[in-house]
Amino acid sequence: MNINFYMPTKVIIGKECVKNNAVLMKEFGKKALIITGAGSAKKNGSLDDVIDVLNSNNIEFVIYDKVMSNPTVKCAYDGAEFAKNHRVDFIIAIGGGSPMDAAKAINLLACQELTEEELFEGKFHQDIMPMVFIPTTAGTGSEVTPYSILTYDKIESKKSISSPLLFPKLALLDAKYMINLPMTTTINTTIDALSHAVEGMLSIRATTLTNALAIESIEKITECFEALSEKKLDFEQREKLLYASMVAGMVISHTGTVAVHSMGYGLTYFKDIDHGRANGLLLVNFLKLVNKHNKGMIDRLLKAMNFETLEDFDKLLNTLLGEKETISKEEFEKYAAIAIQTNNIKNCKVATTYEDLLDIYLRSFE
Ligand code: NAP
Ligand code: FE
Repeated sequence: MNINFYMPTKVIIGKECVKNNAVLMKEFGKKALIITGAGSAKKNGSLDDVIDVLNSNNIEFVIYDKVMSNPTVKCAYDGAEFAKNHRVDFIIAIGGGSPMDAAKAINLLACQELTEEELFEGKFHQDIMPMVFIPTTAGTGSEVTPYSILTYDKIESKKSISSPLLFPKLALLDAKYMINLPMTTTINTTIDALSHAVEGMLSIRATTLTNALAIESIEKITECFEALSEKKLDFEQREKLLYASMVAGMVISHTGTVAVHSMGYGLTYFKDIDHGRANGLLLVNFLKLVNKHNKGMIDRLLKAMNFETLEDFDKLLNTLLGEKETISKEEFEKYAAIAIQTNNIKNCKVATTYEDLLDIYLRSFE
């Protein structure tokens, strides 16, 4: 056995966990930078809860609410300027993967002088502010990963910054903020989490421990398949998905993702398809390819999802994802050419070629 597991984030899950753990904020400093998207944190109660907690601890704060979905490199530099101008001590990110990922890059750039190339190289000195993450989608697991994924026009795709410095100190998970999360976002983010667990198992870096976590995540998501298909989730199911997404985040912290994610980035970059949806559209056809080489692994995944065959899984995903976009063969050729160059491809137990990736794209949109 060969296991090296590092997960330095304190994770607290439960209703009212932000207010109930107010005292924990004190240790991070006297002035906070709150990073959010444009609207949801103001509407779902999370921003108000955080402001109450900061006020009760006499912690000053400023708010940067300009993070868009799939945050850009420019957004990270702009946020860092804002952080430097306001001389903050720590960062609180509230929202989905976009504000959480942006917060990590903003933090790095506020503390270190880095060019765009250096930002993605991952060689940093140790300066970083403490971070508290409050996820309000159940998908990315960014609250427990050392990754920040930014839209990078230079490579016409999305690219990951990876460093142990990017683990938040504290993650507070309260499903009450997700009660009104639109069903499309709920489905897409759930599929992202599922894809993390599945891809993690197919990574060359998978271990007994990460596989156990992946199966735990897949089983919990499976328990919500019916509710997702019926588009009706209660608080317990929302909480289960939030937990499963966090567990899947722990998986990819150690394994990384494989071809599905790198192929999905093309769909998001060029077609503005939501991150989780992009993964979901490609997942089954990627697994069909894996099945030719490693049937045992696919059988294990199917068992965890209570499916007999990959076709059963395909049916569920088709129900959840609805009508597919129309994309030309020439466009897929371009996306496959970009995806084949990514590290994710080499990270998979099953080797894939450009032709394989193109075939997966074409079959997935038939
Ligand atoms: P997102 O882009 O963060 O949010 C999607 C939408 O949901 C936004 O319009 C947001 O509104 C809204 N929203 C968020 N929480 C809500 C709530 N509780 N109620 C109502 N609306 C809510 O989507 P995401 O799928 O969570 O994150 C995707 C990003 O994460 C991508 O950039 C992806 O590459 C990245 N990612 C990172 C990792 C990692 O390990 N770091 C892993 C996978 C994916 P507002 O904009 O108004 O907030
Ligand atoms: Fe993802």
